[in-house]
Amino acid sequence: PPVVGVLAVQGDFREHLAALAACGVEARAVRRPAELEGLSGIVIPGGESTTIDKLTRVFELRDPLKRLLDAGLPAYGSCAGMILLADRLVDAAPGQQTLGGLDVTVRRNAFGRQVDSFEADLDVAGVEGGPVHAVFIRAPWVEEVGAGAEVLARSPEGHPVAVRQGNLLATSFHPEITGDHRVHRLFAAMVGDHVEKTRANR
Ligand code: GLN
Repeated sequence: PPVVGVLAVQGDFREHLAALAACGVEARAVRRPAELEGLSGIVIPGGESTTIDKLTRVFELRDPLKRLLDAGLPAYGSCAGMILLADRLVDAAPGQQTLGGLDVTVRRNAFGRQVDSFEADLDVAGVEGGPVHAVFIRAPWVEEVGAGAEVLARSPEGHPVAVRQGNLLATSFHPEITGDHRVHRLFAAMVGDHVEKTRANR
C-alpha cells in the first residue's frame, strides 16, 4: 500500500500521523533523508514554519524533499505547512525559506493578535457532508492566489484559507486536531490518484 510521510522535525506531526492512520493510510514519520524514500505523499504539519524550515535544512531534508515536490509528489500542508508550500511569503522571518510549489502568496500570522486563535465552520470544496470545523492557531492566510491555484475555502471575512494546485493541498487551519478526518481523506484520495497515474504511465 502507498506510504505517506509526515515531516516530523517540529510541530504537530503526531496528530497528522494519527489522522492518516484513522483514514487507513500507512503513515511514516520523516526525520532523515532515507525516510523520504518510497513515499507516495508527504504531510507538512502545523508548528513554527521558521523552525521547520531551519531543521529541514539542518537534517538535510530540504533538497531531497524539494526534488520530490518538484517531481510531483503529492503534499498537504496545514498552517506552518501551508507557509512552507507557498512560493511567496509576506511577513517572513529574516532568512526564512519555503519549499514552494504552490503559486500563492501567504501572509504569516495574518489574523493578528486580536484573533490570535479562533474557530469557524467552513465549507470546503471537495469535502462533502457539511462544513468543516476549522481551528486557526496564529494562522496564515493566502494573500494572493496565482493562476494555477484553486481556492477551496475562505475564512468568515473572505480570505482564502484552503487552496489546491494539482497535487498540492494546503489549509490555514488544523483538521488534524479535530477528529474530523475528511480533509485527510481528500489528501489520501489525491495520493491514490497520483499512485494510479504513475502506475499507468510506467
Ligand atoms: N504562526 C506559525 C508560523 O508562522 C504557524 C502556526 C501554526 O502552524 N499553528 O509558522
